Amino acid sequence: MSDFSKQLDGLSERLSQPQNIVIVPHKDPDGDAIGSCLAWCRVLNAAGHKSTVVLPDAAPASLLWMEGSASMLVFAEDAEGATARIAEATLLLYLDFNTLSRTGKLAAVLQERTLPVVLIDHHPFPDTSLAEILFSEVKVSSTCELSYGLMKALGFVPDKAAAECLYTGIMTDTGMLNHNSAHPAIYKTVAELLELGVDKDKVHREVFHSSSASRMRLIGHALCNKMHLLFGGKVAYIALSDEELQAFDYRAGDTEGLVNMPLSIEGVEIAALMTEKEGGQIKMSFRSKGKLAVNAFSEQYFSGGGHRNAAGGEFWGTLADAEVRFKESMSVYLQDVKP
Ligand code: 5GP
Ligand code: MN
Repeated sequence: MSDFSKQLDGLSERLSQPQNIVIVPHKDPDGDAIGSCLAWCRVLNAAGHKSTVVLPDAAPASLLWMEGSASMLVFAEDAEGATARIAEATLLLYLDFNTLSRTGKLAAVLQERTLPVVLIDHHPFPDTSLAEILFSEVKVSSTCELSYGLMKALGFVPDKAAAECLYTGIMTDTGMLNHNSAHPAIYKTVAELLELGVDKDKVHREVFHSSSASRMRLIGHALCNKMHLLFGGKVAYIALSDEELQAFDYRAGDTEGLVNMPLSIEGVEIAALMTEKEGGQIKMSFRSKGKLAVNAFSEQYFSGGGHRNAAGGEFWGTLADAEVRFKESMSVYLQDVKP
């Protein structure tokens, strides 16, 4: 029996009894994280389980149109309520991350658990000690794509609302089928989700075409005034201070997609975005083309990780110090990867 079949049998067995399930994604949740959580929540509840999504921190407004989003608990806003909900669970479902540190401050609560854990994720290098039942597949585009295959294998048919959540995760994690989308199976999944009733135009309007004017101005400011090209145009980076973000009335999700934009410049192979958060934390986002592995770079220099071509990390200090560290470490990295 393949490992996949074994894991599937394990999950099927667990779900043969009604479970009280808490579903958790990574912090700073994106479309794949929220989409997979809400899709599973809906499908599991329809199958007679009681499930609730507990987020480490709030979701971007552009994802709150999704069915079920109003019932999500946010640990950063209601630690007591979220902790109480976890305490009554019989099963934890971790989605779109594979190391506990990705859940931020919620990790301390989850660490205490003695509950069985199911993990579904598409990032490389999973912490296999994290879950009893583990579906870790890096070849798929997204946790949503992987989840749809699993739902089908378990005999669950997502309804229109759940299918729209899954479709959203596939579209956001692939940049609307721009990257991580060369495998034919993804188009079969998309076709099946459309057959399940996904209102594609609505999803695209909600997710990609509902920006505020200030968000568009922030993107314009970042590209026009803050984008620096380094190393002969091979590397581009943008650093945005808290003051700048506030000046453009920043809301969670407003910089989504910005880090990808410099990669559209001919010759740019690595792009970085640094955003200043509260308490001296700088969030680092990296993207690359081809073989350059930004997950390895982020892991080595910014305590992060992710995929080869899309990774994130963090830096503690000033934004100016983060820029210096980025330039110095990138110089070393480019020397190291020289053919
Ligand atoms: P983003 O730049 O969009 O926040 O993240 C890009 C990718 O890197 C995503 O797959 C995300 O899950 C992963 N990622 C982002 N930040 C971190 C981090 O601090 N640690 C790890 N291990 N992965 C991260
Ligand atoms: Mn994902």
